[in-house]
Amino acid sequence: MDFTIPPPVQQLARRVQQFVEEVVLPVEKRVLAGAELTKNDVFALRAQARAAGLFAPTMPVHLGGLGLSIPEWVPVLEAAGRSLIGPLALHCAAPDEGNMHTLHLYASPEQVEQYLRPLVAGEVFSGFSMTEPPPGAGSDPTMIQTTAVREGDTWVLNGHKWYTTNGTVADFLLIFARTRQDVSPYKGCSIFLAPVTTPGIHIVRDVPTIGRHDFGGHVEIRYEEVRLPHSALLGEEGAGFGITQARLGPARLTHCMRWTGIAQRALEIAAGYAATREAFGKKLMEHQSVGFMLADSEMELHAGRLLMHQAAWLLHQGDQARAEAAMTKVFVSEAVNRIIDRAIQICGGTGISRDLPLSTWYESARAFRIYDGASEVHRMVAARQVIKKYAAPPPH
Ligand SMILES: Cc1cc2nc3c(=O)[nH]c(=O)nc-3n(C[C@H](O)[C@H](O)[C@H](O)COP(=O)(O)OP(=O)(O)OC[C@H]3O[C@@H](n4cnc5c(N)ncnc54)[C@H](O)[C@@H]3O)c2cc1C
Repeated sequence: MDFTIPPPVQQLARRVQQFVEEVVLPVEKRVLAGAELTKNDVFALRAQARAAGLFAPTMPVHLGGLGLSIPEWVPVLEAAGRSLIGPLALHCAAPDEGNMHTLHLYASPEQVEQYLRPLVAGEVFSGFSMTEPPPGAGSDPTMIQTTAVREGDTWVLNGHKWYTTNGTVADFLLIFARTRQDVSPYKGCSIFLAPVTTPGIHIVRDVPTIGRHDFGGHVEIRYEEVRLPHSALLGEEGAGFGITQARLGPARLTHCMRWTGIAQRALEIAAGYAATREAFGKKLMEHQSVGFMLADSEMELHAGRLLMHQAAWLLHQGDQARAEAAMTKVFVSEAVNRIIDRAIQICGGTGISRDLPLSTWYESARAFRIYDGASEVHRMVAARQVIKKYAAPPPH
């Protein structure tokens, strides 16, 4: 495995970091002070990212993106992720980034024109509507309760979802529903594309969550007698789980890439504070326990990047990298939480205050250990691989 980042990609990552510092951080400062991030703010940032040649890094060139390969996303998305607003500006934020990837793989020519092109252009927003409130599909997606029943050339959807990210701004949704009850859910689920204005789609509420309100929110939706044409199916009927798997592998890694940018910035803030603040006659960083905290964060960032590079490399080879993506998600999501926590500890009262972004990141990062699969579920996937590899007794 050769994880050398080609010089043009290194240069692109540096330009992205500079863009975030010069263009995005002033907006971040206003948002951290309490201003709402509006659609118009996002469109204005996107216009500047487009003009700077930094727009849609994960999408192919023929669709208007930068055409980077998955391994090349690693440093570029980390640079974009140095602000929570950076990926929105560059158009590589969840869930649009994962939805673009999914549509690129599975959309029909008509769906490309209707949904994918405007989405890649950054003119519209999308949501991925899979998770249901208890007792429906959550960690175990086979518990899906949303149904789609075929009536001639029409599908009629009924169900109850929540945590559809982007739901307050989305123009269209990818909706995961059970289309057949006579086969296992793995073969009996499908994904539908629908404009959010389709009759029967009711946005119930934007679910209030820990920390700063995320752009687009996380909404609860009721689907009541939603009638969609057969052409609304994404891919084949029954292919829902396969499509979701193809979506989630890279999508989990992109979460890791973006959050690594925040964790790196948290470490830089903590190191800067420890290098200048004095206590008990010396700089904080000269106290061994502070130095050890900084070292632990540096080690975890380094290990996380290597995990990402290896999983991205496997995906690039056509491997699904299920266990590797799962292990990377567990490690990076938990490391990011620890790194931000340590940064707050090192910065003391300044870290807890809203004068620094650390306290906001601390709140926002918590969900990373839950969305796109809780740590326990990914450990279960990794454990299955361990059992497969080592359960047979070694030959004597
Ligand atoms: C901020 C945020 C954004 C989200 N965005 C989206 C989105 O855009 N679209 C979408 O469809 N969903 C989205 N989700 C939903 C997310 O994917 C689910 O919350 C997640 O899959 C867990 O499902 P659940 O909340 O129903 O938890 P549950 O299934 O109720 O699980 C609760 C807990 O049980 C434990 N657990 C579960 N299974 C096991 C196991 N096998 N072994 C041990 N412990 C286990 C875990 O600790 C888990 O956290 C989002 C969630 C959040 C918080």
